Formats: sequence, structure tokens, C-alpha cells
Amino acid sequence: MKSRVMMSMRRFWGESDPGVGNVRLAGRPVELRALYNDYSNEARRVLARSGLWLAVPVYVLFLITDLIFIPDVSHVTIPARFLIGGFSLVILEFQFLRQRRAGELEATCAAAVVLGYVVWLVPALQTANAEAFSYYAAFGAIFMMGVNLFFSLEFGLALASSGLIFATFLLSLTEFHYSSAYCLAFATFYLCCFVFTSYVNWKLNTERFNVFLNAREAELQQRQATERGEALLRLSITDSLTGMENRRAADIRLKQFWERWRQDGVAFAILLVDVDFFKKYNDYYGHQEGDYCLVTVANALSDIVTPLGASVGRYGGEEFIVILDLDRGEDALALADAICQGIEALDIVHAQRLDGFGHVTVSVGATITRDVVGTKLENVINEADRALYSAKASGRNCARIFDPNELPGGDASENIAAILKIAIQQNLVSLVYQPIQYLETGEIGAYEALMRLQLLDGSNSSPAVFIPIAERTGAIIELGYWAIRRACRDLLTRDIVETVSINVSPIQLRAPGFAAQVAAILAETGVSGHRVAFEITEGVDMEIRPDVLGSIQDLKRLGIKFWLDDFGTGFAGLSWLRLMEFETVKIDKSFLHDATGSDGAKILLEDIIGLVRNRGHRILVEGVENEEQFDLVKSFGIDAVQGYYIGRPAPPLKHPIAVRHAGRRLQASA
Ligand code: GH3
Ligand code: MG
Ligand code: MG
Repeated sequence: MKSRVMMSMRRFWGESDPGVGNVRLAGRPVELRALYNDYSNEARRVLARSGLWLAVPVYVLFLITDLIFIPDVSHVTIPARFLIGGFSLVILEFQFLRQRRAGELEATCAAAVVLGYVVWLVPALQTANAEAFSYYAAFGAIFMMGVNLFFSLEFGLALASSGLIFATFLLSLTEFHYSSAYCLAFATFYLCCFVFTSYVNWKLNTERFNVFLNAREAELQQRQATERGEALLRLSITDSLTGMENRRAADIRLKQFWERWRQDGVAFAILLVDVDFFKKYNDYYGHQEGDYCLVTVANALSDIVTPLGASVGRYGGEEFIVILDLDRGEDALALADAICQGIEALDIVHAQRLDGFGHVTVSVGATITRDVVGTKLENVINEADRALYSAKASGRNCARIFDPNELPGGDASENIAAILKIAIQQNLVSLVYQPIQYLETGEIGAYEALMRLQLLDGSNSSPAVFIPIAERTGAIIELGYWAIRRACRDLLTRDIVETVSINVSPIQLRAPGFAAQVAAILAETGVSGHRVAFEITEGVDMEIRPDVLGSIQDLKRLGIKFWLDDFGTGFAGLSWLRLMEFETVKIDKSFLHDATGSDGAKILLEDIIGLVRNRGHRILVEGVENEEQFDLVKSFGIDAVQGYYIGRPAPPLKHPIAVRHAGRRLQASA
């Protein structure tokens, strides 16, 4: 009911938008009156009912004065009182229960009063106690007061009822046979009562109406203020671009989830979702397209996670956060994977990615709450951040869950990422070469080029540290071209050795135009592709995608050979061997090291070598450090060896300049 009233109240605003504090009700009086009737209906229904229930007993009690003043006709007036009183109450109750409007109930009250007066007056006129009645007749004014003052009747109804009472009284005077002075005095008295009580009734009605208007105005003001407050609050926690909750809201949610975890042990997962290479996207397609892309990603993300009851918000520029109740890491990872796939399936073209994968993708870092003494919420968020970092490092478009056993990255890696950007110009990056001996001829047939990075303080960063960072930041691509060019110039242009092997990362293979760029470098350095081998590490987490395979085919057409590095360290080795034709397979050094001293491990190494040889690959064993190991692998009939026993990695100048196939002379160059 109230809201219906409020809705119609809105139609009574003035022309212009009323600001808080200058609210004005405007509208036609008839409509406002109808509104008032609507609004006050229930209260007036109750008031009419309680009024009549009070008035009827009082009316009936007046039978005592009937007995005193007009006892000879009281046998008529008393039953009439009961009859009218009882009858009107029955009608009123019926109306009340049938939910009739207040106006109808009030009409019953007015009719009851008028009739009550008439059924008392008419028999009373017949009394023999004329003198007593002449005083008693003054009581009739009470009926007039009743309709005008006691009941809260509408002015029109009150005026009509009190007018009827007045008219009935005037008529009754013709039945009276008292002096004209008496008639004049009583008529004047009745007239005064009629005028004054009607006037007071009018004033009361006007007052009630004004109170109603003021109360409604105040209510509207209050409501407006509340709505504006709510709108402001909504605005303050909503991201204006995507319409999602913003970081402030996400922080509030995180605190709520955290409290529940602390108090009730309800575990939850945090997933950080970051768009890959988004800066490139913005740079190439423009900020507006970038915004559009973010909105599309945000909507898709919401569609994926909200059905699971998760909260999702924009946590930073192109980073989103998903929080939901979960207690199993596998489930968090499965959801994170589903997010990656869902976004990839949007097929938003992104031709400028550094890794050559042509569509917009996201990386996801996930973590779940674990029972660790003294953890804080910040630690959990930090875990998700580290998992995201690790997803980026694993080549992007993938999901990672935080592994408590993994060592933290931290400031050092930020520092290295910055150094990698300037490494080439500042000559901080260099190549060293480690010899590879071909056992059939005993010659150094190849060198493996290994990258080194010097930090600004002169110390060296381990490749195990800076290569993943270069892969994560995309710096590996430029560094890769640099390394190929440098290795060709250092060794091949000068004919120091027949072949150079260079490590390439899957990220390079996916980079657009990688093969063409390599061809350009070969042309520029005057080197034939047949003298170059690319080593791909088996351990890397790489799906064999069509674009990678295409790039490999193009490179093979240039004559470049592919070697599988670190064979046996990952799980993918055998399937890789099936899918791609590697010219050489490098057996990881751990097998050789285990084999020295354990017959079982020796057999394992021999078996692995047999397996690879049966597939027709050339076999190189890494990590040969002493004569015993050298003799052992030689006895297995492999093709080539590499290791400190043959030669340590060294800068190009330390390797004697020699004609190719120079044999063992090249060997000792530590
Ligand atoms: P990574 O794969 O490592 O995440 O690389 P990235 O380029 O996505 O990451 P980086 O943090 O270097 O760049 C994020 C970019 O997101 C930088 C900024 O131009 C863009 N960005 C942030 N907020 C908005 C936004 O509201 N609209 C648009 N169009 N771009 C935004
Ligand atoms: Mg970012
Ligand atoms: Mg990004």
C-alpha cells in the first residue's frame, strides 16, 4: 500500500527535478485529496470503528436520563437506543471485515448519529413532561458535536449530518408549544452549535490534510536522501568500465571470506586472472579497443564463475579477481583452467603478441586457504600473485596453483626483468660455448652456445633464474635473435666449428615471423642453415601447437636441425619423439651420473640409449666429467658426448681459432 502511495506521490513533483531540501508537492487538489484518502484510509477505518464502539455505549447509557426526564416514553426511547446502537455496530463490523473504505464506515457512523437523534427525538416529543423535556432537548446539540468533533468525518459528510440534525431540531420546534422566546433562544443555540462545530470540523480536516502533506514531503526527502546515498555507495564499489565490483569491493569481500575462514573454517580460493600481453594490445589496437576487449573478457569471466556462486571483480588494470568457497586445490585449478579456455574461446584477435599466439588469452594464478599458523590475508593474496607470476613464466594462457614448496621470486626477479631490457645495449649478455665431441671421428664437431647474464654489480645471474624471467617478460625473443646472430658470427662465419647448437624456447618458436627472422640472420652472416641446431628442452611445459609445428617445419626447410635437450627429465619426451623428428637426442646428465656406481642405473641408461637409437636418432650424452664415464658411454656406442671432460663452456676467444674438424686439439679449453 505504502509503495503504491509513494509511486503516485512521485507524479506530484513539480516540473523541475526537486533537489533534496527544496521538495515541493505540486498537483491538482482533487488528485491530492484522492491520494490523502488512499493514504489515510486504514487509519480512518480503525478510527471510525473505535469511535462507534465508544459512542454506542454512551448513547445507550443515556437511557438513564431518559428515565429521569421523560419516563413516560422511555419504553420507546430505550429500545430505540438499543436497536439503533446494535444495528449500526453490526453494519459497521460487517463493513470493516469486508475491507470497505473508510468513507463508507464513516457514512455508517454519521447515519447512526443522525438516526440516533431522530429515534430519540420523535418519541420524546410525545412526552407529558413537557417542562423537563424543554431542558432535555438541549442535549440534542451533543449529536451535532458528535458528527463534527467526535468522529473524524470528512467535512462534507459532517456538514450534511449536522445540518440534518439541525433541520430535524427546527422541525421539532413546530411540535413544541413553548414560548417564542424559548424557541428563539434554542434555535439560536442550535445554530451556534451547528456553525461553530462545523467550522472546527473544517479546521481539523484542513489541519489533518496539511499534516499529511508535510509528512509525505518529509518522507520523500528522506527517501531521496537514502536513494542518493545508496547510489553513491554503489558507485564507489563499482568499476565504471566493466560494471563489475572494483578493487575496493573486492577488498571488502576478501575480508568477509577471510573472517569466515578464521571463525568458521570455511575454506576459499582466490584466482587472479590477468590478460596476456595486454599492453601490446592497447599499443596496437588503441585504448578504446582495449577497453572493449576488457569488457568482453570481464563479461565472459562473470558468465563462467558467477553460476558457481563466486564473487568476481576488477582488481587492477587488466587483472580480475575471483573469490569462492572451495577447499580442494584441484577444484581451484580446474576452474582456473576453465577460465583460460573460456577466454581463449572468445577468439579476440591479438596479432601483436610477442609469442605469436594470435588471440587474447589470460593467465590465472590460484591459491586456496591452508592451515598455516600466523598467516594473514595478505599472504594468501600474495600466494595467488605468485601463482599468476608462475603462470606467466610458464608461457601464459595457462593456470597455476600456488605451490608452498616453490621458492619465492620477489624483488630480485623484478630487478632481473629490468636488466634484461637493457642487457643487449649494455653488453650485459654474452655467450659461452661448450664443445661437443663426435665419438666416431674423435673431433669436436659442434659447440653448444650458452647464454650468460651479468648483473649491474658485476655478478652473474644463473640461466636457471634469468631465462624463465626472460620467457615471462618476452625478452627472450630479442635475446634469442641476438644469440643466433652472435653464435653465427663467433663460430660459423669464422669457420671455427662445423655446427653450433643454440637453445630456443617455445616462446620464440611461437613468435610471429621467427623463421623468417632466422633466415634473415643466416643470410646476413652468410651461414648455411645446415650448420645450426636448435635445442628444445624436453622439460618445458609446452603443448605442441600447430603454430609451433609450422614454425619448426619452416626452420627445417632452412636446413636447421632440431635437437631434443634434457631427454628423460620430463614426461613429454616420448610423445615429443613421436611427433617431431629430432636429429639428435641429448640424454640428460642425471642418467649418466646415476649410472656410475650402480649396475641397475647403468642398465637403465643402456635401455634408454637403446630406445632412442631404435627410433633412428643420433645420441648425445651430457655431463661426461671423467674418463670412467667417457669410457662407459663410449661402450654403449653413442654418437657424441658433452661435459667437463671434453671441455667447459668458454668465451669464443678462449677457443683456439681452427679449421673445422680440427679434432681433439680443441678439446681442452676451460
Ligand atoms: P603480461 O602478459 O605480462 O600481463 O603483459 P601485459 O602487457 O598484459 O602487462 P602489463 O602490466 O605490462 O600491461 C598492462 C597494460 O594494461 C598496461 C595498460 O596500458 C593496460 N591497461 C590497464 N588498464 C586499462 C584500461 O582500463 N583500459 C585499457 N584499454 N587498458 C588498460
Ligand atoms: Mg599486468
Ligand atoms: Mg597482463
